[in-house]
Amino acid sequence: MSTSEKDIIKESAELIKKSRHTLVLTGAGISTESGIPDYRSKGTGLWEKYDPIQKASLSALMRNPKEFYEFNLPLWSSYIDAKPNIAHKVLALMEEQGLIYGVITQNIDGLHIKAGSKKVWEVHGHLRTCHCMECGRSYPFAELKEQYEKGLNPPRCRKCSGMLRPDVVLFEDPMGKDYYQALEALRGCDLLIVVGSSLQVYPVADMPGYAEKLIIINREPTPWDKKATLVFHSSAGEYFTKLARELNLE
Ligand code: NAD
Ligand code: ZN
Repeated sequence: MSTSEKDIIKESAELIKKSRHTLVLTGAGISTESGIPDYRSKGTGLWEKYDPIQKASLSALMRNPKEFYEFNLPLWSSYIDAKPNIAHKVLALMEEQGLIYGVITQNIDGLHIKAGSKKVWEVHGHLRTCHCMECGRSYPFAELKEQYEKGLNPPRCRKCSGMLRPDVVLFEDPMGKDYYQALEALRGCDLLIVVGSSLQVYPVADMPGYAEKLIIINREPTPWDKKATLVFHSSAGEYFTKLARELNLE
């Protein structure tokens, strides 16, 4: 670790201890070390291979539901099987110790909750449930997955035969209640720690503007780097391993 990296960890710990209302904003990059590819990393990001707007939008679902599920369900199933990594685990510990107030995540993989975080705003939804697009009835996500695996594509509501869709925010969907609650939570935020987000997906990419101070942990530069007090351009796993040591969280 270079001296400057060492300093960033030390200064992060100081800032976190001093701040009164710290929130964390996470993106797909926090889960790459759990084996889930992000969208925009060079070489491995899904956007290098597909256009997610073509594949994971509301219009894609409405236009060709069969194709929508053939593309998305194998991906989502792999998210469900993934395990939290050190970054998710340290964030859960930091909440328990009162060092952070909660986590706002763009991820749908549920790994913060699996790691034990209690206050989590999943602004793009999650894969625990799904619902019928006709009657609104809610089902566990397993209902959708099991039907698909039996060859019932698209999966349908047992009550009215309407199409089932997951409780995730697709491109072209309106934002859900977690997003508005996260905006409330950001009031008076004196420190926002951004982890593994390219900060290019709106409206979440505006969130750093609500915080007094910013720490950014991301392998590649982001549009908010210039405004940040501290920027760590490396792996989230490495940062949180070292931060946990500095904060005596082990
Ligand atoms: P993004 O793909 O646009 O950006 C991820 C960023 O993380 C990149 O800039 C990359 O350099 C960085 N990164 C990758 N691995 C890292 C690591 N180990 N440590 C530090 N940085 C790392 O992701 P985004 O900003 O979250 O936006 C993409 C959208 O895709 C989100 O809306 C999200 O809902 C969705 N998505 C979610 C998942 C998931 O649930 N895990 C996976 C893929 C995409
Ligand atoms: Zn129904």
